[in-house]
Amino acid sequence: MATSDQVQVKIAAFARQLAEEFGEIDEENLDEHALSWLDAIETRAVAIGDAVTTELLRQKSSDRPATSLNREDESVCPQCGKLGPYRGQRERELIGRRGPVTISEPEYFCPCCRKSFFPEDQGDRR
Ligand SMILES: [Zn+2]
Repeated sequence: MATSDQVQVKIAAFARQLAEEFGEIDEENLDEHALSWLDAIETRAVAIGDAVTTELLRQKSSDRPATSLNREDESVCPQCGKLGPYRGQRERELIGRRGPVTISEPEYFCPCCRKSFFPEDQGDRR
């Protein structure tokens, strides 16, 4: 992924801020599992990247356009085409490249099929 100069400046500031909060990594205070100074820094960077990924996915899953469109009182059942009432949000765990991510999606109930359905699932299940 190419990053613009502006984004690179933000990343540098964010990394400096996190380094200050977490404390310096140097040869004397290496984590017991770290193989080296480089390994310790990479481990920390991967953990930060994973946390950023999880947060981005959480934010994106809650403000996807489909989510707000489908947060109606009713939605069309994909099986029978009848309208079903909104039942609330359901949490679902997806397995991303960097591990599990929990998203929230609207749940509807079809009175004809007598089961819940999730409009956002269409094409989203892998
Ligand atoms: Zn139905």
